[in-house]
Amino acid sequence: MPPRGKGKGKGRGRGKPGRGRKSSFGRRKVCKFCADKKLVLDYKDGRALLSFTTERGKIIPRRVSGACAYHQRQITNAVKKARVLALIPYTATQVPMA
Ligand SMILES: [Zn+2]
Repeated sequence: MPPRGKGKGKGRGRGKPGRGRKSSFGRRKVCKFCADKKLVLDYKDGRALLSFTTERGKIIPRRVSGACAYHQRQITNAVKKARVLALIPYTATQVPMA
């Protein structure tokens, strides 16, 4: 039986050995923009874009939002554009002191 993955090395050098989190394959997140073609991302729609940012204005990462690479890029660009247009804030006005 040939080893999995060709080439040298063990693939990505990320992560510490011995600390493998078992990935559950049960339910796979699907990009909601891919799932629903009618959903259009618009940088002028600040309210919709707010749902892709955290309370403090950070863009929600792909692993959380579940968007595919293509649509995550669209989200990122739209959010950045909307920020410039002052449709959504760069950051929270009141940052809670932690
Ligand atoms: Zn997608």
